[in-house]
Amino acid sequence: MSTDVLIAGAGPSGLSLALLLLRNGLSVRIIEKQSQFHPGERGAGIQPRTLELYKFLGILPSIVAISSPAPRNMRYFVAPDDGKPPRISTLVQPMDDTPDRPMMNARLLGQNIHEQLLREHILANYGVQVELDTELRSFEQHSDHVVVHAVKTVGSKPVEVTVTVNWLIGADGARSIVRKQLGLSFLGESPQMEAVTGDIHVVGDTLKQDPINGWSIWTQPDNATPLIVSMRPCMVPGENLFQFFMGGEKLDTLKISGNREELVKAFHEITGRKDIAFGKLVWMGLWRPNIRMVDNFGKGRVFVAGDAAHVHSPTGGQGMNSGVQDSFNLAWKLALVHKGLAPQSILETYSGERTPVIASMLNMTTELFRKEFGAKAGQRQDFHRGHELRQFGINYRGGSLILDEKYTDKNEPVDPYRSGDDGTVRAGDRAPDAPSLTYLDADETVVTCLFDVFTTVKHTALIFPGSAGENFVAEVSKTLREYPSNFLKSILVLPRSSTKLPSPLTDMTVVDTEGYAHMNYAVTEDRPTVFVVRPDSYIGALITSGELGLRRYFSSVFL
Ligand SMILES: Cc1cc2nc3c(=O)[nH]c(=O)nc-3n(C[C@H](O)[C@H](O)[C@H](O)COP(=O)(O)OP(=O)(O)OC[C@H]3O[C@@H](n4cnc5c(N)ncnc54)[C@H](O)[C@@H]3O)c2cc1C
Repeated sequence: MSTDVLIAGAGPSGLSLALLLLRNGLSVRIIEKQSQFHPGERGAGIQPRTLELYKFLGILPSIVAISSPAPRNMRYFVAPDDGKPPRISTLVQPMDDTPDRPMMNARLLGQNIHEQLLREHILANYGVQVELDTELRSFEQHSDHVVVHAVKTVGSKPVEVTVTVNWLIGADGARSIVRKQLGLSFLGESPQMEAVTGDIHVVGDTLKQDPINGWSIWTQPDNATPLIVSMRPCMVPGENLFQFFMGGEKLDTLKISGNREELVKAFHEITGRKDIAFGKLVWMGLWRPNIRMVDNFGKGRVFVAGDAAHVHSPTGGQGMNSGVQDSFNLAWKLALVHKGLAPQSILETYSGERTPVIASMLNMTTELFRKEFGAKAGQRQDFHRGHELRQFGINYRGGSLILDEKYTDKNEPVDPYRSGDDGTVRAGDRAPDAPSLTYLDADETVVTCLFDVFTTVKHTALIFPGSAGENFVAEVSKTLREYPSNFLKSILVLPRSSTKLPSPLTDMTVVDTEGYAHMNYAVTEDRPTVFVVRPDSYIGALITSGELGLRRYFSSVFL
């Protein structure tokens, strides 16, 4: 077998998974059935949690350089426009960054440019190119491999291709063949509604690229019918490009979706804004709401991720972000199992951990969709994005892989999307950042932060020795050294008052100069605690017992 993993589908889920697996040293092929990459903006809102994950993946600077702040306000016009100034309504409150959350606000980047950036990183760093015009048709699963049958178009001729791989991932979108062939249920509903969406250039300055106040919505005066037109600036430098979304009961969406002139005509009729002139249409598609998810994220050696596993309304900007987060959850587990270091059963926790999170996401986005689009006459509400949509609160508390020796009440209710944001820091939660950590390197004091320490290929054990002293550090470090050093690193975090020398027993010793690590991890300077942070930067274990707890946690991760 020359390839470890075949990924079907080169959207954000497939590409981020490819990058993660390649960083973990696996060989990957990515096939894409389209002959050209999708040109559309589609999922442009990158949530703060995804930005954090991209920092660990090493692509955040490139993302920040080419993205813009996400829109903050919406301008509501009456349709047809009555010439009055729009009503301004807050979409999302901007927040200041904090020492534990260095990226508080979402950013805006067209999915087409986002995907291009991921492809460029994959090619530049690993020499892997997405194979276009190659469609997965079927597969057969065996105990130690998967045989994949695809069709590649060469010239205009279809050529059958058979590839044998260790693992197959269906990141093949909402109509996933992989999901269907695996026989996974895709339960949910398909509400009656249709819309057209796409990207179009506006000529002149009747609508401007403005991330603060540039998102315009037209609705009928009394919201009499669920008819809505949205124009969101794309913030592509030098282009007056907008993502449009037009939906409603009396709209002939089929007619409009096939024809630019019909689209422009409908826009002018509904909004009354004949002064807005349009240029080139980049792409346009028909959109029907589907609110569905799988009952299981995989079987054996085949898994699904992203829209292949869950589809929902774009309201709230969670879909693409959730797909990327599926990939982060799956990648490190798959890499360890493939290398023979973890039991295959660990892969079941991919489904176990992501299912409640995605179910919760579906509920939230559906509620938003109903309020903002599907409301009955007079009941439509303004777009508003709650704090949970930043995705800091997503957590895997209580999961079979998670060990918490501090919070032990198994009956405490967990909200998979919000509990991680409840002010406590527990096993299963997102691992917070902590800046102003110092260490000595060749007699020079270096300042670092935890987000620079975490990596997508290793667990990181943060050892807070408290007053327990040398024996605790020695015992914990000795235990940690029993596990594969390429997949685990240890950091001793000394309190700011510490005068101790760097420990030769751990990979790194830092002094918590400003106290942020102790504060952000809610540890006191007297109580010894170890946090084991997983390669997806969630806290796998919160250990107070030392050696015993480490052994318990790692017994379910490593063979
Ligand atoms: C108007 C709109 C706005 C949105 N806004 C947001 C937002 O702000 N934030 C957000 O998070 N999400 C948003 N979304 C959702 C987001 O676009 C999707 O969730 C995202 O595209 C899912 O990524 P994916 O990689 O899982 O699947 P996709 O992007 O659908 O990629 C799947 C790929 O697989 C390929 N493929 C399919 N079948 C095969 C096969 N058999 N063989 C090989 N290749 C195959 C497809 O051609 C496609 O390229 C929005 C969506 C829309 C429509």
